[in-house]
Amino acid sequence: MDAVTHDLVILGSGPGGYVAAIRAAQLGLNVACVEEVPALGGTCLRIGCIPSKALLESSERFHETKTALAAHGVKVAGVELDLPTMLQRKDQVVTDLTRGVGMLFKKNKVTRYEGHGRIVGPGRVVVAGADGANVAELAAKHIVIATGSKPAGLKGVEFDGDRIGSSTDALAYADVPKHLVVIGAGYIGLELGSVWLRLGAKVTVLEYLDRILPGMDSELATEAKRLFERQGMTFLLGRRVTGAKVEKKEVVVESEGAEPLRCDRVLLAVGRVPNTDDLGLDAVGLKTDERGRIPVDDHYSTSAAGVYAIGDVIGGAMLAHKAEEEGIACVERIATGYGHVNYGAIPGIVYTHPEIASVGRTEEELQKAGIAYRKGTFFFRANGRAKALGDVDGRVKILADETTDRILGVHILGPRAGDLIAEAAVAIEFGASAEDLARSCHAHPTLAEAVKEAALAVGGRVIHA
Ligand code: FAD
Ligand code: NAD
Repeated sequence: MDAVTHDLVILGSGPGGYVAAIRAAQLGLNVACVEEVPALGGTCLRIGCIPSKALLESSERFHETKTALAAHGVKVAGVELDLPTMLQRKDQVVTDLTRGVGMLFKKNKVTRYEGHGRIVGPGRVVVAGADGANVAELAAKHIVIATGSKPAGLKGVEFDGDRIGSSTDALAYADVPKHLVVIGAGYIGLELGSVWLRLGAKVTVLEYLDRILPGMDSELATEAKRLFERQGMTFLLGRRVTGAKVEKKEVVVESEGAEPLRCDRVLLAVGRVPNTDDLGLDAVGLKTDERGRIPVDDHYSTSAAGVYAIGDVIGGAMLAHKAEEEGIACVERIATGYGHVNYGAIPGIVYTHPEIASVGRTEEELQKAGIAYRKGTFFFRANGRAKALGDVDGRVKILADETTDRILGVHILGPRAGDLIAEAAVAIEFGASAEDLARSCHAHPTLAEAVKEAALAVGGRVIHA
């Protein structure tokens, strides 16, 4: 088989890979993208961000219709869950978006290869079909590895394809679990735990640490835990899970120093690990680090000439938009010599209700680094729009440098926090001060006014509190 030559071959079509492919094509490169599953879009579009958000939206509407509409004077009788329709809708959202990536590839003349890509030498990749036979041989000056991640396992807890599963299973349970035990109070545990709680499951979250959402601002995480408990979620903190086994139709979950828990389903959500399965790293002399990640320099170059890596397969936050930014910076550098990601301005959002969003540094990080800061807080209960929505829990917290007033971190727990954080990310990217935000006109009545008020609070001149 003769090798087909491209300027750039990208392995993986997740948000890192497909966005890099489109940007590289815009910059005039002849680009190929190899994806081993039939649908494009990666974890994010197929089994991650998008289906989870579709279910979060649907389950929230179900729950709100049952519990909150009456307060608005809307009486609805006989509210019932139609889970098959809810799951089908989620699948349709996924199908529409994954097909959309295919159309973007066509529009941008990105060549798509379906199969498992493996590096076989410098500048050489083979693509194998589902039967293992080679579909294509590719030659390229540049190879970008964007093969993403997969669920981390836990000793003693084996995925059994039914009762003990990962996020992928929890996106498609055929029935609402009676009792769902979630291992890990991180992003996945809280989002998918919320989905099934709203649909009627009893949800118990077991977390190894003494807090939820490690890495997020601890004041907001504590408040969020209280709100989730009010919704009916149970948290057992300081629980190191040591095993789970299926006994007839039940699962028995064991943790150190505690009574075993019985449930009908377990969602294991203790993180994700880089995916470098059968990638041929040896063929170019590459080794992963102790956590299975591909080491790269500041410009995403690996130690092998012409081989780069981006997204979940390298270090840093496992977030779709982080993978996208890296993909763009990586190929811009290949094509133009320049490309950069500002890691200080990458937001993180947990799409629970209320949402939790964060960008920049937390108070704990600033304290640890010995950076003096001022803090401005504004509670949504004093915001007119939040009142009108009937969604008043949470707050905006802005941390600014004590001397320069430069915004160092913004943390929001509240309605649409995930959308509100965009303003804060732009402010940090532009090096804004709290006063810059405070003096910018925010329309009334909007949730965004809570951000402005928190910025005013940094300077001690909040108006509505
Ligand atoms: P991936 O999206 O994992 O894509 C890698 C692709 O490479 C896959 O399609 C895989 O099939 C393919 N591949 C792997 N090996 C090969 C090979 N050898 N040859 C060919 N193809 C290969 N992040 C957010 O920012 N927001 C969210 O709301 C969010 N929600 C999430 C919800 C869940 C349930 C999960 C699991 C994750 C979520 N994430 C979210 C994380 C997000 O999905 C990842 O950070 C993101 O998908 C990483 O992008 P990537 O391009 O690096 O890799
Ligand atoms: P996570 O890292 O967010 O949380 C894992 C949790 O499991 C941690 O709190 C950890 O302390 C706990 N844990 C680890 N071992 C344990 C044990 N033995 N017993 C009990 N608890 C244990 O991981 P995740 O929730 O699996 O999500 C994986 C990644 O996917 C996240 O890091 C995130 O980057 C990404 N993701 C993002 C979003 C989003 O952006 N909204 C949504 C879902 C997933």
